Amino acid sequence: MVLRNVLAAMFLTAVITFPSSESSSVAEDAYPSSFTAAMTSCDLDEGGRLFPYPQRITDTTLTCLHGDRTTALESSSGFRRVLKNGSLANNSEMKIPTHTGTHVDAPGHVYDHYFDAGFDVDTLDLHVLNVSRAYQEKMSPKLILLMLVISYVSSSTQDGDELIPPRVDVYESGKIYDITHRVSSRTLSGIYVEGIGEYLTLYLSMRNGSDYNFSIIKLPAHSGTHVDAPGHFYENYFEEGFDVDSLDLEVLNGPALLVDVPRDKNITAEVMKSLNIPKGVKRVLFRTLNTDRQLMTQKRFDTSYVGFMEDGAQWLKDNTDIKLVGIDYLSVAAYDDLVSAHRVFLKSREIILVEGLKLDDVETGLYNVHCLPLRLLGAEGSPIRCILIK
Ligand SMILES: [Zn+2]
Ligand SMILES: [Zn+2]
Repeated sequence: MVLRNVLAAMFLTAVITFPSSESSSVAEDAYPSSFTAAMTSCDLDEGGRLFPYPQRITDTTLTCLHGDRTTALESSSGFRRVLKNGSLANNSEMKIPTHTGTHVDAPGHVYDHYFDAGFDVDTLDLHVLNVSRAYQEKMSPKLILLMLVISYVSSSTQDGDELIPPRVDVYESGKIYDITHRVSSRTLSGIYVEGIGEYLTLYLSMRNGSDYNFSIIKLPAHSGTHVDAPGHFYENYFEEGFDVDSLDLEVLNGPALLVDVPRDKNITAEVMKSLNIPKGVKRVLFRTLNTDRQLMTQKRFDTSYVGFMEDGAQWLKDNTDIKLVGIDYLSVAAYDDLVSAHRVFLKSREIILVEGLKLDDVETGLYNVHCLPLRLLGAEGSPIRCILIK
């Protein structure tokens, strides 16, 4: 099946809102903390110019209850099996209908010619879904999504016969960067030597008489750009439910530094020290040789990628305030220290690891990062959508 035709309408999506101080919100899903009422600048204090964010984040996404969590993935490599069975890490696989829980519809959901032309969820406009202007205008997420559908239908109609789905990485002339890799059959997961294969099954098809297109997603939880939860490398955390739904959105969203690291070695304590990342910086995305080598888009999983050595992870933990660690390959830890470096990071459950970021063509510097994992109950990893806003 042609991939663009397979890419159906939907994917679970996380939605965060930034209500004003008067707004009521669902208490248990709100993240108070560092975003104070008076806050008009970021926690790096850039003079209030860059990050005029409101005081709290409210998660309006439904949690996804797990049914068939498949943890016993067969593999020749030890770390790919489950901890309980003697493996060094837990690795789940997700299988969910695309329109499960909180989700978004793409035009191809109910228009077969859009479906055939490839108007899938990857073509949705992040400017519409995220831009701060939407907040300033105090529009509800519902209204924004409605406008999204309307704008697509009308703009596509005006295009006449030429239906070209937009595939965009940069929005608003460089204000929004999508730093997420597209998911396709070639996407690497670290579970398989090669890509994940056909991850979408068209369960209901308009071509076969259905009123709409409807796909089912099946992919390893650590595919492409994704997040690790503490249960990935700690069986007790896994059992106690420290899954991706328990990750702190305050850590995953906020001011972040994108830095280049030396290209000739793994990230050791010495390298960490040389980066001179000041105290107070909570989120750092590390761009490495992996980006230069375009490892995320290679056909096979490459164990020669670079990442944190155990001493580098320990140094970061002991000497910085970094709570969000982003990296440009499938594992934040170098292959030789795969388990030990992960365990250093995940032990306190304060540091969140985002892996497989797409960091090419973005300048180093200060941004606002927005990373939203799916609310998959019981999952120790999840695909994640990450964007940078300048
Ligand atoms: Zn992972
Ligand atoms: Zn990892």
